[in-house]
Amino acid sequence: MSEETALAYLQTADYRWTRRAFELLGARELTVTPYEGGGAPCFVVEGPCPRCDHHLVDRQVTTGLTGLSGPSRGEGGNRAPAIVLDVTCGCGGAHENAPAGAVGCGASFRIVMDAA
Ligand SMILES: [Zn+2]
Ligand SMILES: [Zn+2]
Repeated sequence: MSEETALAYLQTADYRWTRRAFELLGARELTVTPYEGGGAPCFVVEGPCPRCDHHLVDRQVTTGLTGLSGPSRGEGGNRAPAIVLDVTCGCGGAHENAPAGAVGCGASFRIVMDAA
């Protein structure tokens, strides 16, 4: 929690943030909580940002529910649907060089979970 380690704002969707988010999920530091939002499945993503480590809370509707749309492409045909959440850091922490009005450190990452 040192101010010296504050990261500069950088718009990045590097795969390593997704990978780190996966690790954080596995460690239960990052949590995904479903809630009802007018019929559509919604989720709250909460925990440390994979890039800047600040606490972030992201409420969103699922951006993708694979396996439910379009014909199956084989592979046994019976793929489990997965929930895909694209999250952009909105930590509220201070980051140098952030554009006016921007929140977070600029990192985007993806969370993929089994829907079942
Ligand atoms: Zn961040
Ligand atoms: Zn941050």
